[in-house]
This record gives sequence, C-alpha cells and structure tokens, in this order.
Amino acid sequence: MLFKCSKCQKKLSLQPNIFEKAYKGHDTCLDCRPKHGGSREGAGRPSLGTTKKVSVTLPDDIWEKIEGEGNKSAFFRDLALKEFEK
Ligand SMILES: [Zn+2]
Repeated sequence: MLFKCSKCQKKLSLQPNIFEKAYKGHDTCLDCRPKHGGSREGAGRPSLGTTKKVSVTLPDDIWEKIEGEGNKSAFFRDLALKEFEK
C-alpha cells in the first residue's frame, strides 16, 4: 500500500495490515496527527495555572478554621487571587 500524507506530503510504503490499523480513513501520517494523551490546545477545561506544592506552618486553631472552609488548596488559591489579582 502506498500512503501519501496530505499535510507533509510524505509517501509511505505500508504493509496492508499496518494500513488497515493505522492509516485507513486518515489522510495524514502519524507524525502529522494530534497525539492521543498529549496536551492538546483547546481540549478540556481551561487550566487554572501551574500547580506548586508548598508547606505552610500555622497554629492548629488556624488550620481548624481553614479546614472548616473545605478544600485547603482552594482556600489558599482564593486567598492568593484576592491578594494579587486585579
Ligand atoms: Zn505527514
């Protein structure tokens, strides 16, 4: 089987079983197709940003209040956003 990629114009000589499995119904080669499992722009929900792990020391009574708010990460995120975002 001869397969020609419509994007990079690469010509591939393929075994029929390979063609059936990976190329049939496609018009671009594997290199030109979006990778599955990779990060695709515009896919899924928008990212909140970069996740960084921090250790914070606070008195236990403060922790109790923070934990009373629910999600600790969300609490610190909200606090930081309120502080720095316009
Ligand atoms: Zn290609």
